[in-house]
Order: sequence, then C-alpha cells, then structure tokens
Amino acid sequence: MSISPRVLLSIDYEPWFALFRRYDNLTDPQQRRDLDGGFARRALDPILDLLGDAKASFYLVGEIADWYPEVPQKIAAAGHELGLHCHIHRPLKDTSELAQDIRASAHWIRQYGVRGYRAPMVGIREAAYQLLADNGFAYSSSIYAPAGVLLKKGNVWEIPVSTTRSRRNGGYAAPRDFTFKLLLGGEFPYGSSFSIGLLGGQIFKFIERDLKRGLSPSIILHPYELATLPLSARLARDLILNPHLLPFRRNKAGFLKALLERFPVSPLGAYLDEALAAQGQPNA
Ligand SMILES: [Zn+2]
Repeated sequence: MSISPRVLLSIDYEPWFALFRRYDNLTDPQQRRDLDGGFARRALDPILDLLGDAKASFYLVGEIADWYPEVPQKIAAAGHELGLHCHIHRPLKDTSELAQDIRASAHWIRQYGVRGYRAPMVGIREAAYQLLADNGFAYSSSIYAPAGVLLKKGNVWEIPVSTTRSRRNGGYAAPRDFTFKLLLGGEFPYGSSFSIGLLGGQIFKFIERDLKRGLSPSIILHPYELATLPLSARLARDLILNPHLLPFRRNKAGFLKALLERFPVSPLGAYLDEALAAQGQPNA
C-alpha cells in the first residue's frame, strides 16, 4: 500500500531577526522581544489566512510562545501541527544547548503534544536523535536529502527537507550536512526557502516531478517571507551588510498561494503517520 503524494509544507516560525547571525548572541529576553517589535504576533493572521483550509507544520521558536502565548494557541486551533524549531534561534549543534532549549520550551511542547523538531539552519548532530527520543519526539526534519528518503535514527524518524536526486551523491544517512560538494554533485536543495527565493515558481517543476514519481517533497517557508515586514533602517542596514540573504526577503505569499492551488499539502507529522501505517508499522 502506498500513500498519496503531497507537498510536506512547513513554516519555521521565527523572529525576523533570526535571519541575521549578528543577533544570535543577544541574550536579554526583553531586548529580543523589543527587537521583534510584535512582528511574530502580527504575521500570524495573514499567514493563517493564506493557508485557508490547507494544513502545515509550524516549527515554532519557543521564545515566541513566551512572548505571545496566543501564537501557538492560534496555530493549533486552526488545525496545524506545532513542532519545535528551538527556544532561541542560533546554530544549535551542541547537544547540551539543545537539551537546554527543550527544557526552556517544555511547557508548550507538553501542552500541545509536540512530536516534531526542525533544527535551526537544518543542521543536526548524531547525539541529538537520542535526546529527541528521550524527550518524546517522534521525528526530526533536520537534514537535506531527496524526497522519499525517510530514515530511522533509534526511535526517531528523520524526514529530510527536499533536494533533487543525484546519482553521483548516492546513499543517504542522518545526520547529513549539506555541503558545497553535494551541490557540485548535482543535488539542489529546492526545499529551502533560500532556493525558493532564488527560483520562485520554477521550484514547482521540481515539486511536480517528485509528486509524479509518487514522492512527497518537503519545503520550508518563514513568516518574514509571507507577511509584510516593514523595512526599518536597522533591517536595511542588515540587508546591505548581508546581500546574500536577499532571497530570504523575497515575498513568497504569491508562491504559497500558487502552490496551494496546484498541489495537495500536508503537515509532516500526518504524512509520517500515514507512511508508517502504509508500511504496517505502528504510529510514531
Ligand atoms: Zn530557522
């Protein structure tokens, strides 16, 4: 038995300034909240409107749940899946730091029955899988690999963010850092919002090809790509200093609208349950 292919749609729900590494070390919670300036709260309704009846996975940055408890409430009430992105956004490859983040977000992780994790910058280490299992997570989506790849790491499943398939790059294992070498080997990470920013609707060709093969591609979007973020002097300066980040700032609301018109979508957790049931395995 096989399951119907669909786009695994996820939104890494993070403050706008998560885009710029220079704010990673800003530790004062009030300063971080002030810097966000209410954007994480204001962006939600327009995004929920865009989604309409379609359901997605929202990997939430836990500090947003602290600032605005109504954000996870509304996401869950609208029938979307809530997952953990981290508590404070930064590269999170140190397992003790990840443990700290899971503790800091424990209250809403428990409250909403969170089962999925997406590592910041889609970067994860081996030891993280055991830690995720110990904390009740069923799956992670923290590597890049072609659609259709589903890996088991102990008791945790890994559902990759999609790349094109390259015969040259061969086998897939988690963890898996996406390197320039993989790119040169012909593997293009079309599920990343950076790629979507570069190619826009051209991404649909990759999606369509995988769906036709019966595979379910997995893609990422961010709130600052879907809702209007007022251009402040600070943001303009950050962008001038980091021009390579411009594809992240390309508005993707039109992309999402067209995606929803063309293809069926689902959250990652629902896909995993169906995929396991189709294989005769118990729910994750
Ligand atoms: Zn992120």
